[in-house]
Amino acid sequence: MENYISKHIIRVAFLVLSVLVTLGGCSEPIKKYHSKRLFLAPDAESSNAGLRLFWSGAASVVIDDGTHSVLIDPFVSRQENSVFDIVFRRDAVVAECRINERVKRPEIARAKTILVGHSHYDHSLDVAEFARLTKAQVFGSLSTQRILRAHDHTTATRVTANDVLEKDDVDGRFKITVFASKHGNPPVCLEPFGCLNPLADTVPDSFELPAAVTEYGEGEVYAFFVEHKFGNVLHVGSAGVMSGTLDHLKGQVDVVLLSLVGRGPTEAFLKNIVAAVNPDYVIPIHFDNLFRSLDAETRVAKIAKLSEFFEVMERDYPNVNTGVIPFDEPWNLPHRGASDG
Ligand SMILES: [Zn+2]
Repeated sequence: MENYISKHIIRVAFLVLSVLVTLGGCSEPIKKYHSKRLFLAPDAESSNAGLRLFWSGAASVVIDDGTHSVLIDPFVSRQENSVFDIVFRRDAVVAECRINERVKRPEIARAKTILVGHSHYDHSLDVAEFARLTKAQVFGSLSTQRILRAHDHTTATRVTANDVLEKDDVDGRFKITVFASKHGNPPVCLEPFGCLNPLADTVPDSFELPAAVTEYGEGEVYAFFVEHKFGNVLHVGSAGVMSGTLDHLKGQVDVVLLSLVGRGPTEAFLKNIVAAVNPDYVIPIHFDNLFRSLDAETRVAKIAKLSEFFEVMERDYPNVNTGVIPFDEPWNLPHRGASDG
């Protein structure tokens, strides 16, 4: 019994430590990477016609054409759900006031579509409230559908790998293809405890509120290829490796939005994504300390190894542009054939 208790204490201590290290406790200011900032393309600056991307931490992205927009993994309930809430399995909290404020931003107010890449809380928790306020249609896994139902949003559509969403689903301005993807690795692994992942694998049919942060289980993991006449964007919302899945997209992707936390060896990771699709731009996402307010200075989780990511990109893919974009600032895709669609 004593042995059991001490093992349990060590396990909890290890969990606290690994979650702290992984998700935020150990971080550095974004200022260090200001020289890597991606600037607006000059031709896009002079014209409103085009696609604009916004990143607001974790995998939360807006793709906006000025008329309609697509939200992917919208998430703002950051400081409301701390490391300790994860470790001690406290109930997840949706920052409704903050979402209310956020949907006043024009690029979010005109959202018609919300995509959810997997159903961990930092991807799915806020989706129902965003959907309620914007009236956007939600697409995600079965786990995501169950979470939304518990949040009183009953019209989310389940998608599976290789589904294509077009006119009937997303009003024809965007075409979205769903790709099977993988989740990044769990935090730190230590014998004899293995890799401790505090978050559930899936969301059961019985899921109801209130629910612990950890009950927002992973479910199926998807990447989304979003096509628009002004440019094509691949969103990889978790840093799993997908050998061969994306190869046929070679030459079609303008921008990859690439999650970094939890990736395996960087070379192999980039080979399966960047070498596979050969994009013009790779913009890293999901490298920030996600427990900090969006209004506070962005901090980079050290475990995201952002410096190493840039080193490998610059060495192995010198022709691919890469750099950070600040939270909530528009980044305009360089124009592609605005008149041919
Ligand atoms: Zn996740």
